[in-house]
Amino acid sequence: MTTKNDIERGLRELGLANGDRVLLHSSVVSVGELEGGADALIDAFLTVIGKEGTLLAPCFAALGIVPETLKKRPGAVISPCPVGTVVALGRDAEALCRDHWIPDSPHAEDTPYGRLAERGGFICLFGVDQDRNTFLHGIEARLKLPYLGEVSEKFTTPDGTVREKTWHYYPGPHRDFIGLDHRLLAAGAMRIGRIGNAEVRLMPAAELLKVGLEIGSEHPDFVLCDNPECADCTKQRAALFSARIASESFKLSASSQLAGRYVDEIVEQLERTGIRYVELDNIQGRPAAGRSADELADICSRIRRAGSEISALRLVALPDDQEGFWKKLRLCAIPAVIAPLASPAIADFAAAARRNGIACHVANSRMTAAQAASAYEALGFTSPSFCFNPAEFAAAGENPFLTSYRVGRFIRKTAQLDVTDGLWDGSPALSGRGNGEVKELVSIFRCRNFPGFLVLGGGMSGGSGFTLADHVKWFVRMLDRM
Ligand SMILES: [Zn+2]
Repeated sequence: MTTKNDIERGLRELGLANGDRVLLHSSVVSVGELEGGADALIDAFLTVIGKEGTLLAPCFAALGIVPETLKKRPGAVISPCPVGTVVALGRDAEALCRDHWIPDSPHAEDTPYGRLAERGGFICLFGVDQDRNTFLHGIEARLKLPYLGEVSEKFTTPDGTVREKTWHYYPGPHRDFIGLDHRLLAAGAMRIGRIGNAEVRLMPAAELLKVGLEIGSEHPDFVLCDNPECADCTKQRAALFSARIASESFKLSASSQLAGRYVDEIVEQLERTGIRYVELDNIQGRPAAGRSADELADICSRIRRAGSEISALRLVALPDDQEGFWKKLRLCAIPAVIAPLASPAIADFAAAARRNGIACHVANSRMTAAQAASAYEALGFTSPSFCFNPAEFAAAGENPFLTSYRVGRFIRKTAQLDVTDGLWDGSPALSGRGNGEVKELVSIFRCRNFPGFLVLGGGMSGGSGFTLADHVKWFVRMLDRM
């Protein structure tokens, strides 16, 4: 049987003292047999922190018996915010809770949470883990993490005014806070003790905030789980990736055959990874360019309805019926076509593209840089229209960055960089894992604030055995190391 005295002793051992302010998340049952139940737990805290101290507990949603019990104590203050509400009792209760509804985030600056950190307060997890730690929402909010949402409520302010307000940077569904424990311990920002059967964590709020902001600035996915079956975290990761790409000068597209076989699958993978554009190469194992006008229009409209955009249509060979081809592209509002530079009739094709108001970018295939550069010059493009494919230069026996890129002076010519790696023998590889010198190329294009498309799996030959998610993972790794 655990008593109020046991709890008091345990809290003092953890470092809680007279005059402290503490935000408590708790599970009474975790203590085991507790004499006096929730009241004893609350009384123990109030005894340790004394009349000068303040005890707080989050009391939105169903956060348990302790906040409910605390609310009924004479002098308890409920913060005037319908989302992220806390109950407070003690000397600073009023000051900590005041105007809680006003700030844009209910968990960050100018809230009981933020004020607690400023006033040297503590966060206590009593028999619960970091997943229950509402203070962590404030860290996500301060980082303005792009996956955070908003919440709207109608409520009455303390002066009796009925208002409707939208709060931003509001936490989403699943996150994984449990893994933070070892980081906090390593940083000396948390002490763990045992009271009854309960594991009890005590953290200075300011320390927790500092460590959390440090980790989160470097790894914005620090509280997302890595279970690929978790739809919530997959979606939140996609939002992080989209925001990251939006901060780059280039635009990112993905090969449709890399994304999936069927349109539904392609659209789903684009959504899961957070990529906005798709380049149509193969659909259901057949070249998209070979589809009838109606079929292609249907494919395009399904992609667009799902919120994705088409960056280009890719050809492995020039079409026989060019009139029909241009008509089809105009009908489908496809803005650009990627065509093989090595085609004998490429000059006429590029001229026809221009007449039809469609951008034509020409891609190297099994050519050396010198051959590609001279073929490109012969076309007399007035704006950059080269599609640089590293895997193809590697397959032609060149070092794509050290040799091809420099020899061909492609810096001024390139409109698109295929993020497609490969081995010398022409077999595919993950970006940065083959002979394509993809990392060096992406880096040099970024250095000049390249405004064109980077296309994951662009111009890849056949199936690579890798998924779009694999490519994105490697692409992120690559960017992280630049
Ligand atoms: Zn998750």
